[in-house]
Amino acid sequence: MINALWTILDSIRIQDFFDIAIISIMIYGLLIWFKETASRFVLVGIGLLGAVYILSRFFQLYLTAVVLQGFFAILLVTLVVIFQEELRRFFERLAMWGKIRKRPYTSSYHRDVEVISQAVTNLAQKHIGALVVIRGEEPLDRHIDGGMPLEGLLSQALLESIFDPHSAGHDGAVVIHRGRVVQFGCHLPLSLNPKKFRHLGLRHTAALGLAERSDALCIVLSEERGDISVALEERLTTLANARELKEYLDAYYAKRSPREKPRRVSERMRKNFREKAAAVLLASILWLVFGYQRESIRRDFVVPVEYRNLATEWVIEEPKITEAKVMLMGPEQAFRLLDPKALKISLDLAEIREGRQKIPLTRDMVKVPSNLSLERIKPGSIRITAYRLLPVEVPVKISIKGALPSRLTLQKIVVTPPSVTVLASPKLQKSGIRIRTEPIALEQVTETTTLAPKLLFPTEIRFFDGKPPSVKVTIEVRAKST
Ligand code: ATP
Ligand code: MG
Repeated sequence: MINALWTILDSIRIQDFFDIAIISIMIYGLLIWFKETASRFVLVGIGLLGAVYILSRFFQLYLTAVVLQGFFAILLVTLVVIFQEELRRFFERLAMWGKIRKRPYTSSYHRDVEVISQAVTNLAQKHIGALVVIRGEEPLDRHIDGGMPLEGLLSQALLESIFDPHSAGHDGAVVIHRGRVVQFGCHLPLSLNPKKFRHLGLRHTAALGLAERSDALCIVLSEERGDISVALEERLTTLANARELKEYLDAYYAKRSPREKPRRVSERMRKNFREKAAAVLLASILWLVFGYQRESIRRDFVVPVEYRNLATEWVIEEPKITEAKVMLMGPEQAFRLLDPKALKISLDLAEIREGRQKIPLTRDMVKVPSNLSLERIKPGSIRITAYRLLPVEVPVKISIKGALPSRLTLQKIVVTPPSVTVLASPKLQKSGIRIRTEPIALEQVTETTTLAPKLLFPTEIRFFDGKPPSVKVTIEVRAKST
């Protein structure tokens, strides 16, 4: 037992730590979200189904596994729909991460608290309704309708004037962000749980609606009852008096903004400790089950041989080998991550010699992931015959078919240029190269014409920059004198 543990510890690589760390963070995020979200019952249901599925696979309950498998495919789509809002927020937060860390808002929040609580106290005494939104880290634009932009410095007088029932902009909510009134007269979305909050009026439902959808804090001042409530996340809390609001705001800002001196490590560790421990434990178990593998296994792959960097004037004589077998060793999960199609033997032919030669197939010709090792390549070497092509000028022969219409006589046929330059092997040059035009049908000719017929080359011929040369053929005719 201890031995087994030791072998595991011994074979852990630095990558595995990152592997486990990333999965731990993901599970932790999931757990925290699970703790906060209102849809957690959906998640519990899915978790249960997942457990049933794993058990059915384990005990080979064929039908159950197949039905659940089909169900999960549909579920994936359904989940995106159910958690659309959560997913959007998740990506929004992810995008905001970098930005927020740079500018902590610590120094002047006490002023904000002072101004807001004082203004709300005054408004409450006069029984004036109000709705104040304190923006968190998430942007709110997508939730808020209407509203006038302001960007004014936050002050008591400003807040009280905005909510003055005689003013045109008193209807709706005010958005405050970092000591500024950013917007006023905003229309907020209503709560997603209208049943739960049936007794509430619109102002309160709207405060909850925004709090549910974002990390904003909404302060509601009831016009009818004159009491103060705060909406955060999914909760609406009614406060006893104005002093309590100041305490609440102080606590809220203190929690949100990082302190002047960084918190001690032990304190940070303790926050959500249970979730953190569970995440690391779960990630480690997953890694042991799916990630860790003791035994090395061997797999053979037939891979293509690729001939690279062959200059145009060089030719390798057919038949050349196009495939070879490579044998790889490594843990099973490394093979699972391997794309066999990406494997190939890559031969660099930049320094090829003339004639028959043996090229050994070596390990550096195959790119394999670091966690797999290349045991052997079969065959160990390949033989190729290479020769260099030399330029040669070959006259173009004209081939014709059929006969001219009877009323015409052929004067002459001219090819321009009369010969073309191609690349050919010395062997081919010795045996003679013939280049002809494709047959020109004389029946079609009714007068003197110039054509650009295709040229027919022997297959072993190459061309400068790969493009075959072309010629023009002029057929001169004359009408027969009767
Ligand atoms: P109160 O206790 O002050 O009466 P309430 O919750 O009963 O609050 P209502 O009486 O229904 O709210 O609405 C009063 C005001 O709430 C409206 O005049 C309007 O200014 C504001 N209000 C209503 N709906 C919204 C909304 N979606 N977003 C922002 N403000 C709203
Ligand atoms: Mg009302």
